[in-house]
Amino acid sequence: ADHIMDYPVNPDLMDWKSLFPAFDCDKQQVQFLDIGCGYGGLLVTLSTMFPESLILGIEIRVKVSDYVINRISALRENHPHQYQNIACIRTNAMKYLPNYFHKGQLQKMFFLYPDPHFKRSKHKWRIINTTLLAEYAYILAELGLVYTVTDVKDLHEWMVKHFTEHPMFTRVSDEENTLDPVVKVMTDCSEEGKKVTRNQGDKFVAVFRRIKDPYET
Ligand code: SAM
Repeated sequence: ADHIMDYPVNPDLMDWKSLFPAFDCDKQQVQFLDIGCGYGGLLVTLSTMFPESLILGIEIRVKVSDYVINRISALRENHPHQYQNIACIRTNAMKYLPNYFHKGQLQKMFFLYPDPHFKRSKHKWRIINTTLLAEYAYILAELGLVYTVTDVKDLHEWMVKHFTEHPMFTRVSDEENTLDPVVKVMTDCSEEGKKVTRNQGDKFVAVFRRIKDPYET
């Protein structure tokens, strides 16, 4: 349960070196974050696309995060000098993000096929909501990007509404998205994305940019 979850009091107290032993974590911070990373398909894909960037997956289910942790160790063993830049931790992304990340630290955040929580009474559990968007804006760098994809039209419209109504985000145009290599891979590289493809489901993509804070000089 949640109450036994371990988390750092602040980002400087996090032991990043043990997650990324091949990198100098005094000089380099996590820049890409996959929220609710599931079985880790996106992490594995991004690892080779961005070998110099540190990429972290966050997953709340113990068995699933253990699976991803083992998957990454096996990849590191079987491919020397590769997959050193990805890691997974178990935590609740709706509660502890500011404990892990400094203001403006992240370049990219991913929400791939987040749990839809269909019922109206459960909407407060959606990982995109007004309160959490303020947190995401805080840990994202200026001009940092948030990538979302879902097969649930109602959730897509919900995410678009919340991000576009929020003063710190603007939606990236479809035209610009076609030029982004990340958008090309993100709909299909995760385990959930592959399942949606197999079932010939819809895929609704939306990308948002963290704009400059008008109150900051
Ligand atoms: N992104 C993955 C993919 O595309 O294959 C997984 C999608 S799955 C439908 C949603 C994932 O989010 C689940 O693995 C779930 O355990 C995780 N999750 C849900 N709420 C979370 C939270 N508050 N913090 C971290 N992970 C969460």
